[in-house]
Amino acid sequence: MEAKYVYLFTEGDPRDKMLLGGKGAGLSAMTQLGLPVPPGFIITTQACREYFDAGERFPDELMVQVRAAMADVERQMGRRFGDPERPLLVSVRSGAAISMPGMMDTILNLGLNDETVTGLARMSGSERFAWDSYRRFISLFGSIGLGIDGEHFHSAMETMKRDKKARYDTDLTADDLRELVNIYKLIVRGNYGRPIPPDPYEQLALAVRAVFASWNGKRCVDYRREFKITLEMANGTAANVQAMVFGNLGPRSATGVAFTRDPGTGENVFFGDFLMNAQGEDIVAGIRTPRPIIELKHIMPDVYEELLRVRERLERHFKEVQDIEFTVEEGRLWMLQTRNAKMNAAAAVRTSVDMVRDNVLTKEEAVLRLQPDQLVQLMYRRIDPNFSEPPVASGIGASPGAASGRVVFTADDAEREGKAGKKVILLREQTKPEDVHGFFHAQGILTAVGGKTSHAAVVARSIGKPCVSGCGDIRINNLEKSAYIGEHKVDEGTVLTIDGGSGRVWLGEVPMREPEMSEEFSLVLSWADELRGLSVLANADTPHDAHTARRFGAEGIGLCRTERMFNAPDRLPIFQELILSDSRETREAALSRLLPLQKQDFKEILRVMEGLPVTFRLLDPPLHEFLPSEEEIQWDIKNIERFRSAIEELSNLPNIIRAIDPHLESVLSLDGTIVKNLAKLRAFEMDRRAAERKLETLRKVRALREVNPMLGHRGVRLGITYPDIYEMQVQGILEAAGELIKDGVDVRVEIMVPQVCTAQELRWVQGIITKVEKRVEERLGVKVPYKLGTMIEVVRACMRAGRLAEMAHFFSFGTNDLTQATFSFSREDAENKFLPLYNERRILQDNPFEILDVKGVGRLMMITVEWGRKTRPDLKLGICGEHGGEPQAIEFCHIIGLDYVSCSPYRVPIARLAAAQAALKEKLGTLKPPK
Ligand code: PEP
Ligand code: MG
Repeated sequence: MEAKYVYLFTEGDPRDKMLLGGKGAGLSAMTQLGLPVPPGFIITTQACREYFDAGERFPDELMVQVRAAMADVERQMGRRFGDPERPLLVSVRSGAAISMPGMMDTILNLGLNDETVTGLARMSGSERFAWDSYRRFISLFGSIGLGIDGEHFHSAMETMKRDKKARYDTDLTADDLRELVNIYKLIVRGNYGRPIPPDPYEQLALAVRAVFASWNGKRCVDYRREFKITLEMANGTAANVQAMVFGNLGPRSATGVAFTRDPGTGENVFFGDFLMNAQGEDIVAGIRTPRPIIELKHIMPDVYEELLRVRERLERHFKEVQDIEFTVEEGRLWMLQTRNAKMNAAAAVRTSVDMVRDNVLTKEEAVLRLQPDQLVQLMYRRIDPNFSEPPVASGIGASPGAASGRVVFTADDAEREGKAGKKVILLREQTKPEDVHGFFHAQGILTAVGGKTSHAAVVARSIGKPCVSGCGDIRINNLEKSAYIGEHKVDEGTVLTIDGGSGRVWLGEVPMREPEMSEEFSLVLSWADELRGLSVLANADTPHDAHTARRFGAEGIGLCRTERMFNAPDRLPIFQELILSDSRETREAALSRLLPLQKQDFKEILRVMEGLPVTFRLLDPPLHEFLPSEEEIQWDIKNIERFRSAIEELSNLPNIIRAIDPHLESVLSLDGTIVKNLAKLRAFEMDRRAAERKLETLRKVRALREVNPMLGHRGVRLGITYPDIYEMQVQGILEAAGELIKDGVDVRVEIMVPQVCTAQELRWVQGIITKVEKRVEERLGVKVPYKLGTMIEVVRACMRAGRLAEMAHFFSFGTNDLTQATFSFSREDAENKFLPLYNERRILQDNPFEILDVKGVGRLMMITVEWGRKTRPDLKLGICGEHGGEPQAIEFCHIIGLDYVSCSPYRVPIARLAAAQAALKEKLGTLKPPK
């Protein structure tokens, strides 16, 4: 059978956007609903693809089918394409399956030439209108069809307006426009070498080529890359050919664009603009100021009423807020476009709730129409969308949210100023674990180096603080506590604003919008909760995080990284002592000081999460992460040496002064107190002891140095080599839980072991727990029920899932590490060095650290699920890597039968919605099975 490349609006299946494109599907739907749509047809996306496949040649049958369709349009309009008496004019518009506003091109008034323009004048009874249409055609066709810089036409128009003393284009007369047409023709000749072909079918072919070409134009390609529009989502553009109707036919004509509800707030009001006596592009181009749609009610009440009916009809049909274009020709309404409106998150949520109340949508449909990722906007403060000043620098948007504050350069300063009620931005080259206290007191964090997984980024995300990392335009002078951002000098106290979503940085304060966890948002999430199968837990390391997580609806904690607690300023020195000590006594002393502190945290967290599971993960990171770097220690040692020589110089100071002038001694009233005190310090040899301690630390830091720490001495390996640390942690957990149980608190304890690769490791940790368990039971007189589980973040753990499940009650996929392990990529290096290029060249479609690699990592997860459940059918399975808060990964987790996802507290609402959508899609049969 011959391929069908052309569909009349009356024949296309409006659901087939892949074939007809969004615009064509919308026009077909409106036509088939009986709404007033000028007749027309669609040249399909398939024709576009075949055109490119054949080296930019139309499929053989295409123009034959176009002529047949045109004949139909001619019949309906009672005019003919190219007829000098009653010419039919058409528009040619692009339209891919996914709408890409402003990315592709439109040509209007096609079919005009020197003959048809006179026919148009006669037919319309308006010379002015005909020449106005002709000049519009030449400029659009010239710039889009022939690639002439549109600026030539624009400046010719401006010159004409100036010469004729016309304020608006509507002030130009028919003669002026005829003159302008002649000038435009010269522009075409001068730039294209030939005139526009007069044959309308030749014009049409060129226009369709231009539309097709726009699909592969830079603008469009960049847009698809930016918004991750894959070939499965949109493959080629359609070209829509439609009979022209004219909004510029005189005072009873108009053109307008509208939304069926306010897209900024979601309010149920008709929202839009129109222009009298104009064509659609005038609104977009902002040539005249359009009027609010409500005024149309007074000017053309019938048309306005009809528009309201269309509005209602479209919303009920599409079950979605619509973005429409219309034209009024001599008092008659024509619909030119309808598509789903793009709205901000607040408006999307509000309209979901309203449309359920109005019986337009069911709760299921209301949940399905929201985009989980978009809801991130509602969880954080953000830059006012109306603010448009350019930033002074840009880095990586590492943790969303916007913040303003006075710059500080150290975590201690952030803490001090923060505690004093000041708003600060912590600006660092990069951050380290010992800076964490500064995070809690800062509004946001800005670093000169590092990526999305730098320390600053990871910590900021986990506590919900805005962070911009890797801002390469920043040079910091820590000694002077100042920095340069580009050429702007920034001192301590200078106010900055950062946007952790986009990575932009401004000097001064910038207007912001507050987060909107509205009643409507909570209502929609409660509907999602009724629908989802997956539980949603949070990754929360502190009581504060636990509170946040619970507020956002987390059903427990799926990952509590216990090591984060060692980084608090009161604990880090003790933990460092532990690491640095060589004797059993000093280790024990340090551990016994840490135990009550950890226990207190565990208790608070368990209390906040009463009745819900809390998964405590035992120490994971390599120990060197808790110690200063070699460079920092060496810098300290150098300073101590400088101190010594400074004191020597100072003790000689009285002699120096006397040598200059004996009178100076009394003038400066130098009684030598400082000098004497400093000499005492020397006598106590504090500096020597400090230097020795530093040297000892340096020795230890060097001893702990590893070639590849992430694959080295970390996780359960540490627990086995330093069992006293795990013992202390387990004791803290069980004692905290035991004491709460005695107080009548309902606790659900889970202990999770990181980096396990063999069942023997798990058995070993089980041994530690059993030993501690007995001790705690004896001491408190209560038994603490707990579950033992393991992280699955090592490939071997996947392969040994069956064995591990003999001991583990639950598995939690640590997909951050599992992705590194599966690809053998180190995340930091991959993201900083080659991943962007891999993505650009399509070697990898996505960043697998953000979008779960279903084909590799996902396959390992499926095997693990199958083998684990074979051993233990009630094995609890979840995910706690960063993918646990990413909608596509959540869908995958649903498909493969996990029990829960765990993610940052701020992503919990997103995960609740995404989990519900996965369950709904399964019910509807639209889930794609993993390949
Ligand atoms: C993981 O590897 O996915 C994980 C959650 O552990 P971490 O990020 O702490 O290494
Ligand atoms: Mg890990």
